[in-house]
Amino acid sequence: MKKIKNFIGGEWCEPISGRYLDNVNSALGEVYSQLPDSDELDAAAAVTAASEAFEAWSKTTLEQRAILLQKMADILDRRREEFALAESIDNGKPISLSLQGDIPRAASNLRFYAGGAMHFASESHAMPNFGVNYTLRKPVGPVLSISPWNLPLHIFTWKIAPALAAGNTVVAKPSEITPMTAYLFGEICQEAGLPAGVLNIIHGLGAKAAMPVAKDPRIKAVTFTGGTATGRILAQEIAPTFKKMSLELGGKNANIIFDDCDLDQAVETTLLTSFSNQGQICLCGSRLLIQQGIYPKFKQKLLEAIQKLPVGNPMDPATRVGAIVSKSHFEKILSYIQIAKDEGGKILSGGEKLSPHGECANGYFIKPTVIEGLDNMARCNQEEIFRSVVTLQSFATKEEAISLANGTPYGLAASIWTQDLKQAHVVADALDSGIIWVNCWMIRDLRTPFGGMKQSGVGREGGWESMRFFTEPKNICIKY
Ligand code: NDP
Repeated sequence: MKKIKNFIGGEWCEPISGRYLDNVNSALGEVYSQLPDSDELDAAAAVTAASEAFEAWSKTTLEQRAILLQKMADILDRRREEFALAESIDNGKPISLSLQGDIPRAASNLRFYAGGAMHFASESHAMPNFGVNYTLRKPVGPVLSISPWNLPLHIFTWKIAPALAAGNTVVAKPSEITPMTAYLFGEICQEAGLPAGVLNIIHGLGAKAAMPVAKDPRIKAVTFTGGTATGRILAQEIAPTFKKMSLELGGKNANIIFDDCDLDQAVETTLLTSFSNQGQICLCGSRLLIQQGIYPKFKQKLLEAIQKLPVGNPMDPATRVGAIVSKSHFEKILSYIQIAKDEGGKILSGGEKLSPHGECANGYFIKPTVIEGLDNMARCNQEEIFRSVVTLQSFATKEEAISLANGTPYGLAASIWTQDLKQAHVVADALDSGIIWVNCWMIRDLRTPFGGMKQSGVGREGGWESMRFFTEPKNICIKY
C-alpha cells in the first residue's frame, strides 16, 4: 500500500511519531493508501525549513521565480493524466473533470503567477511642490497555506503560486481526505529544481498538523480555504498574534432565475451549478430561486435533465457525477436530506443513497437531489450541506428574489438568469455576494478578486489581491 510522506526541506520525511492515517478511495469505500498523522514536531520541522530557506528565496530575482513556476506548470502538464487519475481516485470526482478541469487549472494557476511575479508593481504617489512617496512591497516571510478536499490540487496551487511568486516560503497542509496530488507535487518541486525548504508539504489532521504551524511566531501569514466553522477556530487562534490572514469560507449560493431567461441555457447550466463535482464546489448554487411564471416549466425540464445525468464510477469517462468524498460527508448529506423531510420538504429527485453495480457497490454515492417546499429559514436553505442537494423556491418580484438570496449568513457567489440587462445590473448591485455571474457560471478570469462577504470569508484572493496579501507594503516619503 502506498505510503505518502511529508516533503520538508526538500526531503521525503516519515512522520516523527511514526503514526499514519488511512486514505480512502471513496468510490470503492476502501483504504488504498496511508498518510502521515503529522503533529507539532513535524510542523516545527516544516516551519524551520521554511524559515531557513526564506532569506535566499526572498532575494531571488523575479525572473528566477517566474522560470521555476513556469517549469512546474510544464511538468504538471506533462504528467496531467497521472495527476488526474490520482485526483479522481482520492476525491471521487469524475475523471473527465480532473482531466479537463482540476489539473489544467492547477497548471494555469502556476503559470498565471509566474507572470504575476514578473509584472506585479508597487505604487508611487507624487506630492506637487513637495516630493514623492514610493511604496516597497516585500515578501511577508514564511507563510502557511491550508487547503480543502473539494478541489485539492487546484486550490493548493491557487495559494502556493502567488505566495512563492511574491518571494515567500511556504508550509502547505492539504486536506487529510485528499492528500495524494499535493504529495506528488513534491516530486514536481524536486524535478523543477525549487530550492530545498521553499515549499514544504505536511500531511495530517488540521488541528494537529496545521494549527501548530499557524500559531508559530515564525509564520507571518495564513491563507485558508475551508469551512466557516474551521475558519472561525483558526481566526480565534491567530487574531491575538496579528499575523495576516486570508479566509475563503463556505457558501449557500443562490441561482436567481427570472421568467425572461433563456430557459434551455438556464437549465443546462443549473445542472452544472448544482451537481458538478457532486455539488462540492464552493461556487455551486444550492438554492434555486425561480420566478413564479417559469417555475413549473423550469422544474419539469430540470428534473428531466437530472434523470439523464450519468452518476457512478468516477473512472468511467462518461460519468458526470461521481462519489461523495468520504463516509462522514456522505452521512452528513443524508442527515440533511432527513432534516429537509422533517421540516416539510418534498423530495422531487434523488434523496437517497445510490449503489452502482460492480466494483463501486460499496462506494459513497448519492442520487442528485432536488427538494421543494422549504421555507427560506429551513436548515437546508440556511446551512451549507456541500452537497448533491439543491432546493427550489419561487419568487414573485426581483425585490423578493434579492431578499431571499441575501437571507443567509453567507455571501460567496450567486448567478442571475435574465435577458433584461437593467434587471441584471440592479439585482447584481443589491446582492451581498463577492462573486456574481449573469447568464453564465464558473467563468473565471484569474485577475479578478475572488472571495466572499459575510461568513463566506475575510479578504480576497486572485490577481493582484493575492500578490498584495503575500507582500508587506512599506511607504517611503522623500522631500524634493
Ligand atoms: P474544513 O474546514 O473541514 O477543512 C479545510 C482544511 O482545514 C483542511 O486541510 C483541514 O484539515 C484543515 N483544518 C481542519 N481543522 C483545522 C484546525 N482546527 N486548524 C487548522 N486547520 C484545520 O473544510 P473542508 O475540507 O471540509 O472543505 C469544504 C469547505 O471548504 C466548504 O465549506 C466549502 O464551502 C469551503 N470552500 C470554500 C472555498 C472558497 O473559495 N470560499 C473554495 C472551496 C471550498 P483536515 O483534513 O484535518 O480536515
